[in-house]
Amino acid sequence: MLTIALSKGRILDDTLPLLAEAGIAPAENPEKSRKLIIPTTRDDVQLLIVRATDVPTYVEHGAADLGVAGKDVLMEYGGQLYEPLDLNIARCKLMTAGKVGAPEPKGRLRVATKFVNIARRYYAEQGRQVEIIKLYGSMELAPLVGLADKIIDVVDTGNTLRANGLEPQELIAHISSRLIVNKASMKMKHAELDTLIQALRQAVEARA
Ligand code: AMP
Repeated sequence: MLTIALSKGRILDDTLPLLAEAGIAPAENPEKSRKLIIPTTRDDVQLLIVRATDVPTYVEHGAADLGVAGKDVLMEYGGQLYEPLDLNIARCKLMTAGKVGAPEPKGRLRVATKFVNIARRYYAEQGRQVEIIKLYGSMELAPLVGLADKIIDVVDTGNTLRANGLEPQELIAHISSRLIVNKASMKMKHAELDTLIQALRQAVEARA
């Protein structure tokens, strides 16, 4: 049995067509079903539906053999995982953002984000003193109410930032979703995994 961890939303929407090209389709609609383990048209493949930030955890611990996670989530997670394929989906940018026209604060920069590890690394590389404020959502609010000077978040069109009087500033990384594989599975189930990875690679390349 091969178990694939996926999260609902953008990643599921963009991954299902790739899996379909590899001959794998869910037996029921994962967006509608309340089930968290979804069988597929292949007896030897099942899907786990988990939170996006939990995908690397399931895969690293071997509860899933493989998964699909955004590079932002993987950069924040760290961990020991194989990342054999860039699926080139759910593309966006990880950026700093602040209020339009706001001057750089004189003292220590206060940065609100859910990506605290990435933020710490990014500012440490620049030798900048920062206070990191962990948030779980609606990061755009933080500069508006004086909780932080800047935020770090993923940006696609930038419309959400602009709607809140913020502007994208520094680019930290280009983001897309990656296929990740458990290290032990890669050894123990090498033939099955290799076949699936190659099929997905072909599906991705056919779109390029
Ligand atoms: P935007 O198009 O920049 O207004 O983005 C809309 C919302 O979706 C923002 O809250 C972004 O943080 C989020 N977002 C955009 N692209 C992605 C992505 N690839 N993965 C996860 N969240 C995203």
